Amino acid sequence: MGIMVSVVVDYLRHIETDCVVNNVGELADYIPELAAVDPDRFAVSVAVHDGHVYSIGDSSLEFTIQSISKALTYALALSRRGVETVDAHIGVEPSGEAFNEISVDARTRNPKNPMINAGAITAAALLLDAGHDGDTDTGDVDEAFTRLLDFYSGCAGRRLSMDEAVYRSETASGSRNRAIAYMLESYGVMPADPEDAVDLYFRQCSVRVTTDDLAVIGSTLANGGVNPRTGRRMLDQVVVRRVLSVMTTCGMYDGAGDWVTSVGLPAKSGVGGGILAVLPGQLGIGVYSPRLDEHGNSVRGVRACRHLSADLGLHMFNVA
Ligand code: GLU
Repeated sequence: MGIMVSVVVDYLRHIETDCVVNNVGELADYIPELAAVDPDRFAVSVAVHDGHVYSIGDSSLEFTIQSISKALTYALALSRRGVETVDAHIGVEPSGEAFNEISVDARTRNPKNPMINAGAITAAALLLDAGHDGDTDTGDVDEAFTRLLDFYSGCAGRRLSMDEAVYRSETASGSRNRAIAYMLESYGVMPADPEDAVDLYFRQCSVRVTTDDLAVIGSTLANGGVNPRTGRRMLDQVVVRRVLSVMTTCGMYDGAGDWVTSVGLPAKSGVGGGILAVLPGQLGIGVYSPRLDEHGNSVRGVRACRHLSADLGLHMFNVA
């Protein structure tokens, strides 16, 4: 191990020591698979601008990406459909409400933003909307998911896969998300078949990642859309700027204001226990620990990110 690597890893171990004594929070339990994970797992990965990943803990343990997928699917929808079309369907205003709140903008009836379920299901629907702009989309869920998984995998720099058991459970327990999709349809703002849209959404939530993957995905965003490990451009800079903006204002459920104030990094969390955070131009961060706070954010994950931000001066509004 080089001297630089060991200094960084020692520092990350120090964060681990501080975080793992904290046993506060509850596992997500709306499906059995999430309630069955080992609550003590913990991992932090940091990918720097040349693509090197520093990690500690269970950094190769796979867990489901859950709502972190919302940022990626929004990015893919912006890329494939263009900003104008996406903006005509999904707002960019923080809702201040829980992620699965059945709420829309009072005037347009569009979902308020892509980080709540209504907006995320609409973003998935935009990937299913067939026959636009002369492209080859058929509106088929399998095809759309293959494209989506290719995109997620390209951002992570390795082939990702879906957890079939989680997908089955999400589907079996998804009444609320179906209700949201049908409500949007009744308002005339659902751009695809509601069942197909939630199906694609459940599949994307069930994609398995590690913290190393999240860190590399984060560094792809930090790097203006080019994966620093593969050199492959995954997104335009304009799309990245938009996605990071929405992650900043809406990424951490209804805990977003506290997060921006104390950590100051664009981020997205998921009920699987993962958090993806980005320091634009510099770093991608992935953290995992499955016990959640009252907002649905990983307790130890938030704590680890607060540490990183404070110790390394990462808050985006730090003035040198
Ligand atoms: N599949 C979950 C749902 O939509 C994702 C929740 C989350 O990570 O916030 O209910």
